[in-house]
Amino acid sequence: MNKFSWYEAKSLEDALQQVNSTVSEQLYEPTKGAAVFKSGGVDVFDWAKEGLLSPEKIINIRNIPGLDQISYDRKEGMRIGANVTLADIASNEEIKSNYLALHQAVNDAATPQLRNMSTLGGNIVQRNRCWYFRSADHQCFRKAGDRCFARHSETGENENHAIIDNGSCVSIHASSIATALMAFNASVVIVGADGKKKEVLMDDFFVSAGKDISMETILQAKEIITDIMLPAPSKNTKSFYIKNVARESYDWSLGDVAVVMEVSGNTCKSASIVLGAAAPVPYRSMQAQEAMEKKDINQENAMAAAKAAMSIARPLSKNAYKVPLFESIIKQAILEIT
Ligand SMILES: Cc1cc2nc3c(=O)[nH]c(=O)nc-3n(C[C@H](O)[C@H](O)[C@H](O)COP(=O)(O)OP(=O)(O)OC[C@H]3O[C@@H](n4cnc5c(N)ncnc54)[C@H](O)[C@@H]3O)c2cc1C
Repeated sequence: MNKFSWYEAKSLEDALQQVNSTVSEQLYEPTKGAAVFKSGGVDVFDWAKEGLLSPEKIINIRNIPGLDQISYDRKEGMRIGANVTLADIASNEEIKSNYLALHQAVNDAATPQLRNMSTLGGNIVQRNRCWYFRSADHQCFRKAGDRCFARHSETGENENHAIIDNGSCVSIHASSIATALMAFNASVVIVGADGKKKEVLMDDFFVSAGKDISMETILQAKEIITDIMLPAPSKNTKSFYIKNVARESYDWSLGDVAVVMEVSGNTCKSASIVLGAAAPVPYRSMQAQEAMEKKDINQENAMAAAKAAMSIARPLSKNAYKVPLFESIIKQAILEIT
C-alpha cells in the first residue's frame, strides 16, 4: 500500500474543492497522483491494499454533516443520505413497512460488521467483484487490456458471472441493494464541482458494459452523491426480494431479484422486476414485467414471467445453473406478493 495524505472534509464544498486540486478518474487507477473520496472505506481500502489503487490523497467524506439522515414523507417518499450505514437502513421501521424489498436486500447484504461500516452511497458506487478485474496481474478489457479472462470456455473461472448483457464484459454488479433500489424506481442525487445538483434515475445511473466498458456508473471523479430518493409507494404497492447464495452464512449473490407491484386484489396492475448478479449492472427485466402486467398472480403466470426473463439469457461455460436459479427465485418472489 502506498503512502497517502488524509483530508477530513468539513462540507460538500470543501470535499469538492479538494478533489479539484488533485483529480483522478473514477475508474481503475493504477498510477499515483489520484485523490479519491472515501465513505465507509470498505471498497476503497480493499483496492489500495490489493495494489489496484494508489491514491495520493484520501478525502474522507464520511463525517460531512447532513449526509447521514433518513427521512420519510407519505407524499414525497423516502430520502436516504449517502452516508447512512446499511445497519441503519436495516433497522429503520419506515423502510421495513413501506419498502419491504429494500429492507430484505439490506439485511441480506454482507455481514453485520460490514453493514456497520458500509454506506449506501459507497455501496452503489463499489466496483464489480470479478476476480480477474480485481487482480493486479490481469489486464482485462475493463482495465484497457486486450481480453476477458473469465469468458474463456476452458480456462475462464466464470461460474459467478453474467448470463445477460455479457457481450463485452461478463462481470456482475456487486451491489445487491441496488437491485431493490432500482425496482422501487429510486433516483440518485449528485452534486458536481460547480455546486449544481442533478437527480438521476437508478436506471440511468448504471452504465452497461456495452455502452462504456470503463465505467459502471455515470458518476465522475468530481461528483458526490448526497442522497438516494425513493418515490412514495401507493397503498396497493407490494414488494419482495430474494437473494440466492452458495453458503448458508453471508455471501455474495449468485442471483437476486426484487419485485415491486401495484396490485388490485390478486391482479398485477404494474410490475417492476429487477435482477441482480445477472448482468454487469442491475438488470430491469422488461420481459418479466410485461409477462405479469394485468395478469393474476398465480403459479402459471409467475412461471411464465420467470421463463420470459430468462429467454434472453446466454450463459457462459460454467454458469448455466443460473438460468434455473433465476427462474426459481423470480417465480417465488412474484408469488410472495400475494
Ligand atoms: C466480504 C464482503 C461482502 C459483501 N457483501 C455484499 C453484499 O452481499 N451485497 C452488497 O450490496 N454489498 C456487499 N458488500 C459491499 C459492502 O457492503 C460496501 O457497501 C461496499 O464495499 C462499499 O461501501 P463503503 O461505504 O465502504 O464505500 P467506500 O469504500 O468508502 O467507497 C466505495 C466507492 O464509492 C465512492 N463513494 C463513496 N461514497 C460516495 C459518495 N457519497 N459520492 C460519490 N462517491 C462515493 C468511493 O470514492 C469509492 O469509489 C460486501 C463487501 C465485502 C467486503
